[in-house]
Amino acid sequence: MTRLAICPGSFDPITYGHLDIIERGARIFDHVIIVVFNNQSKSPLFSVEERFKLIKQSTEHLENVSVDSSGELLIDYATQKNAQAVLRGLRAVSDFEYEMQITSMNRKLNENIETLFMMTNNQYSFLSSSIVKEVAKYKANVSDLVPKPVEEALNKKF
Ligand code: ADP
Repeated sequence: MTRLAICPGSFDPITYGHLDIIERGARIFDHVIIVVFNNQSKSPLFSVEERFKLIKQSTEHLENVSVDSSGELLIDYATQKNAQAVLRGLRAVSDFEYEMQITSMNRKLNENIETLFMMTNNQYSFLSSSIVKEVAKYKANVSDLVPKPVEEALNKKF
């Protein structure tokens, strides 16, 4: 049996914090699918297509990782793919409440799919897509926060 994990998120844009969780997940699971979900309430900077492309370019080195996008409910997507797990990253305590809510709803919808959390690498505890966008807007150097293709895309946007 192939152990498959879904790594869902907005990825607007993908950062080294995301990538760290993905790389660690890829060592545990046979396959990881990163899925871009379009969370309109977050008024994204990058379109789903742009985010998808940036993730693809940033994960080329990972053989057992693929990228997808979906407009479906996460748990429906994961069920269709026969995934065993949904993989999420946890940073500060502030992530916890939100993640608890989603996880308990997802378990109610399909109790066979586990949500697994990985603690952020200390180095990235305060890294988020929002903070990257905020500083990139003012032309700050973000080269140690995001992969090269993302840095270039941010330079183009601003
Ligand atoms: P969402 O809109 O679903 O929260 P995000 O793109 O913001 O999507 O995050 C996707 C996942 O990546 C979440 O589980 C989030 O906690 C995790 N994540 C984001 N940044 C980091 C980071 N710096 N370290 C660890 N996990 C992170």
